[in-house]
Parts: sequence; C-alpha cells; structure tokens
Amino acid sequence: MAKIIDGKAVSQKIKNALKEEVKELRKNGIIPKLAVIMVGEDPSSKIYVRNKSIACNELEIEYEEHILSNDTTMKELLELINRLNKDNTVNGILLQSPIPRGLDINEAFKAIDPKKDVDGFNPVNVGKLCLGQDSFVSCTPYGIIKLLEEYGIEIEGKDAVVVGRSNIVGKPMMQCLLNKNATVTICHSKTIKLERVTKKADILVVAIGQPKFIKSNMVKEGAIVIDVGINRGKDGKICGDVDFEEVSKVASYITPVPGGVGPMTIAMLMNNIVKAAKDQSKY
Ligand code: NDP
Repeated sequence: MAKIIDGKAVSQKIKNALKEEVKELRKNGIIPKLAVIMVGEDPSSKIYVRNKSIACNELEIEYEEHILSNDTTMKELLELINRLNKDNTVNGILLQSPIPRGLDINEAFKAIDPKKDVDGFNPVNVGKLCLGQDSFVSCTPYGIIKLLEEYGIEIEGKDAVVVGRSNIVGKPMMQCLLNKNATVTICHSKTIKLERVTKKADILVVAIGQPKFIKSNMVKEGAIVIDVGINRGKDGKICGDVDFEEVSKVASYITPVPGGVGPMTIAMLMNNIVKAAKDQSKY
C-alpha cells in the first residue's frame, strides 16, 4: 500500500516559515502585496481566488482583487496590467485563468512585468526556467518538486513521465524535472498506447483533467504517483486524474485529491510573492 504524500501538512509548514519571514519584512517596512485579476464569472476560478486571498490573509500579505466583467476588452485588461506594473506597492500580479474567449491570455501574461510575475507564466520566466536561471517558477510544478524533496524522494536519474502538456502545468513540470536531472518523457492526447509509456515511470505526474483516468495497470510497481487533477467525479465528489483506490495498491507513494498538490500550489504562490517583495526591495 502506497504512502500518502500529505500536501496539506507540507504546505502548512512552508506557510508557517513564510509567515515568520513576512513578519521580519514588515519590521523593515516591506509589505508584500499581491494583486489578483479575474475576468468573468468562472465558478472554479472564484474558489481558487478565494483560497489565495485566505492564504494571503493568513500570512499577512496584502491582497487586492480586480474583478472585471465578461465583456472586458483586451485594451482594458492590458491597461489594468500596466497600471499594476507601475504601482510600487504591488509586488505580485496574478491573472486567474481561464479568461473569456476573445481575450488573448498569452498577450496578457506577456504584459505582466516579469519581476511581478508570481505565477511564472510570462515568456521571460518560462525562458529562464528552460535555461536553468533564477526565475519565478510556475506554482504547481514548483510545489510538486518541493513535495518530492520534503519526502526525501530522489529525482536525479529517475525515469519521470508527465501526462499533460499544458503551458501552466505539464510543460513547466517537464522542465522542473529535467532541471533536477530526471530523464523526462511528456505525453498528451495524441500519445499512442499511453500505458506503454506511463508503465516505465519511476515518477509519474498526471495533469490531464480526466477523472480517475490512470488505472493500476498503467503504473509500475513501486512508482511515485503525483496527481494534479481536480475534477468532479460521477458521485459529485472532488477527485483527481488518478484512480486513487486502485493505484495506491501499486505505487510506493501517492498524492491524494484533495490534500495533495492543490495546497502546495497556494503555498508556492505565497513563496513567490515573498520572493518578489524581497527582490524588488533588494532586501
Ligand atoms: P489542460 O486542459 O490545459 O491540459 C490538459 C492536457 O492533458 C493536454 O495537454 C491534453 O493533451 C492532455 N490530455 C487530455 N486528455 C488526455 C488523455 N486522455 N490522455 C493523455 N493526455 C490527455 O489542463 P491543465 O494542465 O490546466 O490542468 C490539468 C488538470 O490539473 C485539471 O484537472 C486542472 O483542474 C488541474 N489543475 C490543478 C492544479 C492544482 O493546483 N492542483 C493547478 C492547475 C490545474 P493535448 O495537449 O493533446 O490536448
């Protein structure tokens, strides 16, 4: 039976340390601040944004929210981003995805000042991650690396397989694992005989948005399985992309959903805001 990787506990530990750091920064007149932009009424986004505001509150990070209507134009969105780029009290800017069709999210990410890009989606930070340079690393992959490290799981030399190639999870995950010297394969919806590839993984990261898609026959005995998915199952309950019940009998370690990767994403966002505040103040 696999050991459970407790993302809730690890994220709390990270947040506790950051809280102390924020206290120190505040004593020195540095007040970290996050500005969140949400466009439209996506119900999941509302929950994610709320969780981020709660974490900021817990860590005494200032938080401001800009909720824009569905009919916002690209010009209006870019104007807001530019205003926040120039606002010296704002250290981090986060544009919650998805945004309404008709708006170009890549243009918007490109407009965010790389120094304030706490989600790590600006092409400058994506490029720096590829080059192995200091950058803001996208929070979900970064959180997964921290989880593996916290559990003393060696990455170097391992065969790692990432299922899903989105710009926000799959691709940066691949890069993070490569930077840690894993041998990485990335799969997607056009991969033929997926199980042929997933079965070779020592470390399997799944981010596809398909409830309980990964079954035990797709996983190598003793593999470390990281489930990024957040889905609503047929029973109405939140579940991951991995069939936890089956796969936990085969894997050596596994992340649960909820309570695995999700809380780590928020903790690493907090980490990136504190980093942004320190970098900008040359603390
Ligand atoms: P996207 O929809 O942007 O990307 C999904 C990826 O999965 C695509 O690359 C797609 O391939 C691939 N894919 C879909 N179906 C299959 C399949 N049957 N076999 C192989 N590959 C497949 O999703 P995201 O990356 O944004 O999110 C993935 C999941 O992670 C979602 O459930 C999301 O809610 C969750 N999530 C969780 C976070 C957390 O903090 N825990 C943070 C962000 C996301 P192709 O490119 O060929 O279309």
